[in-house]
Amino acid sequence: MKTYEDLAGDGGSNIVDQVVSQREKLRGRLDKIKHKISIMSGKGGVGKSSMTANIAGCLADRGFKVGILDADLNGPSMCQLLGIDNKEKLNIDKEGVDPSIGALDIKVMSMDSLLPSPDSPVMWTDDGASAVWVSTMECTALRELLADTNWGELDYLLIDMPPGSDRIDNIRDLIPELEGVVEVTIPSALSQHIVSKSITKNNNLGVKIIGLIENMASYICPHCDEEGALFEGDDVKELSEKKEIPFIGRIPFDPRISKKSQSGKLFFNDFKDSITGKAISQAVDNILKSIPNT
Ligand code: ADP
Repeated sequence: MKTYEDLAGDGGSNIVDQVVSQREKLRGRLDKIKHKISIMSGKGGVGKSSMTANIAGCLADRGFKVGILDADLNGPSMCQLLGIDNKEKLNIDKEGVDPSIGALDIKVMSMDSLLPSPDSPVMWTDDGASAVWVSTMECTALRELLADTNWGELDYLLIDMPPGSDRIDNIRDLIPELEGVVEVTIPSALSQHIVSKSITKNNNLGVKIIGLIENMASYICPHCDEEGALFEGDDVKELSEKKEIPFIGRIPFDPRISKKSQSGKLFFNDFKDSITGKAISQAVDNILKSIPNT
């Protein structure tokens, strides 16, 4: 048995070379992707993943090459939202793993495609693992999903973050050239309270906030396309003014968004000319305006 005294240098693990080669691999992938944007929220269930999928749909519809990294490792939903059969085996070769291809040719890498069955949870380790250990493993998994995926040339990579603001420091470290984050909230006071923490954290980390989207802002009747009030809540625009970040979109509650996703179809693909489709397009215009050279 070796003791610490017996170990010379790195003990034969060649750890420095391993780290350097991992970094080079990650850099090689990221250099082929022009713009990287994270989509975040405070609370879960506010429509962050639906917005990610439909913003990606809008970008793809405009002719851009788009990929999505489903960084919501414990609650992945991108396969469902983009109509990807997660029972299909991913193609793996010596270069890495090919992403799944969803609606509008959007490339997706999601934990969902790596799990043994659609209802399998992610099991990081045996029960009782400490939060620090789980966090370390989640960070490693994110690095591998980014670096081992054959993304190819992309115009945009959207990163659908888990709810809350826990993983943004990892993403910022892995992708220092990140364009910034889009924050999503619904009008409820609770959602705004929690998203404001996420905004503060990004400000403290020096991560640029591209802007705030208010989702489920009003109700669109699926029969007549008329718009009406849905929630009573503080004005989300006021929150953006208070936090000094751009207010970039007001997306109505539209039952067709969830209906489409249940059948594995992308809302934007079929309804880009509806009031909601146009609101998503408007948000995308604002996102593009904030990114140089687009
Ligand atoms: P999150 O990623 O924040 O957890 P999801 O995108 O999974 O939220 O959305 C939660 C639920 O709300 C889903 O059933 C989704 O279809 C629905 N949803 C999201 N945005 C809208 C919207 N604008 N109108 C109607 N339903 C929506």
